[in-house]
Amino acid sequence: MLHTNLSVNEKGHLAIAGVDAVSLAEKYGTPLYVLDEDRVRANARIYVDSMRKYFGEGSRPLYASKALSFRGIYKIAAEEGMCVDIVSPGELYTALSAGFPAKDMFFHGNNKTDADIRYAMDSGIGYFIVDNAEELNAIEDYAALCGTTQDILLRVTPGIDPHTFEAVNTGKVDCQFGFSIETGQARAFVGEILKKKHIRLRGFHCHIGSQIFDQVPFCDAADIMIRFLAEMKKQYGLLTEILNLGGGFGVRYVDSDPVIDIAENIRLVASHINARCIELGVAHPVILMEPGRSIVADAGVTLYSVGSVKTIDGYRSYVSIDGGMSDNPRYALYKSQYTVLLANRANENADFLCTVAGRCCESGALIQENVLLPRPVRGDILAVLVTGAYNYSMASNYNRICRPPIVMLSNGEDRIAVRRETFEDLTACDL
Ligand SMILES: *Cc1c(COP(=O)(O)O)cnc(C)c1O
Repeated sequence: MLHTNLSVNEKGHLAIAGVDAVSLAEKYGTPLYVLDEDRVRANARIYVDSMRKYFGEGSRPLYASKALSFRGIYKIAAEEGMCVDIVSPGELYTALSAGFPAKDMFFHGNNKTDADIRYAMDSGIGYFIVDNAEELNAIEDYAALCGTTQDILLRVTPGIDPHTFEAVNTGKVDCQFGFSIETGQARAFVGEILKKKHIRLRGFHCHIGSQIFDQVPFCDAADIMIRFLAEMKKQYGLLTEILNLGGGFGVRYVDSDPVIDIAENIRLVASHINARCIELGVAHPVILMEPGRSIVADAGVTLYSVGSVKTIDGYRSYVSIDGGMSDNPRYALYKSQYTVLLANRANENADFLCTVAGRCCESGALIQENVLLPRPVRGDILAVLVTGAYNYSMASNYNRICRPPIVMLSNGEDRIAVRRETFEDLTACDL
């Protein structure tokens, strides 16, 4: 199947990490997020081990927790030796409440409020990844008030377009994140940072985008960044300790996506960086990367129940399910491709062309178009594969639909990691 943790068992059912998906749907109800914990850990280890091996001691992945944020995932990140990225006080709170050490957190985002900055510094946050001048001043002011020194990285834009989807393409000059190298603004801003008495500039960050399948865009970004480090050394005598290359490698959502070897890609990026550092006379910095989806995506499957099948003569057939854009908005937002199958009839001939529609009241609230399934009937269990990233974390209560639970699988055992929302949860804030 698409990934090695997926198979079809002797009953003809989809099995996730060897566990029968249909029995999970019966036990916990649908819609249901299933997360293969062993897979998450295996994905994490590829980054942790190969980054240490090829980039050197101290280099490691920061799990970009926006991809999937709940207490259990921060526990896994800590146990596997990853630091984490957070982008909001809510993610900070969730991580802290899971016992994740604040010193191993990196606070991202293009608008951290004064309250966010205070909360993070009071918690002992490791690093802010500074995005703008106002934020820099707010951190300096609060650090002065507290009599401390705060570590930061500066976010810069290397001006790279890795040809990914526009909305997930953030390394270009024209975007709301960071300072541009190309326009000279990054260089000038470093001068401002170095005047601050309560801020220690430890290094630089760039993020060129998501769903990148090979090492070439990372090598291109590293080239621009190392040239920038050389320039900073020359102009300010700055010795950069940390270079953060941003988001992780792409994920295989459908058969036509490539199979990639992340460890090998990291090895190639590392040898490229080594050569450039030597060439430009820059001390090799600690290298960080920020994988999100490639840690959790292929560990996730969402299970739904089919409710109806409607064929519009001369047009197409719609299969409606009991979840939708409230638990997976990615098709509605970006036309994201997913692999869809019937979990209870996984061996049957898939010759019925259809569109899978969610239950939200919008014509654009689709889960996937042009899907081939065995002709579904009410009660079939429909599985959408590779939903571990940006599904639960982007879920909403649109149409007052309760968010599904997350069931985690480990060593063949299943357990609830996030319980299903209730109607009481939906009205908990209503006065
Ligand atoms: C979204 C994002 C990531 C994670 O990207 P993935 O494609 O999930 O690996 C990392 N860093 C930054 C700054 C991001 O915005």
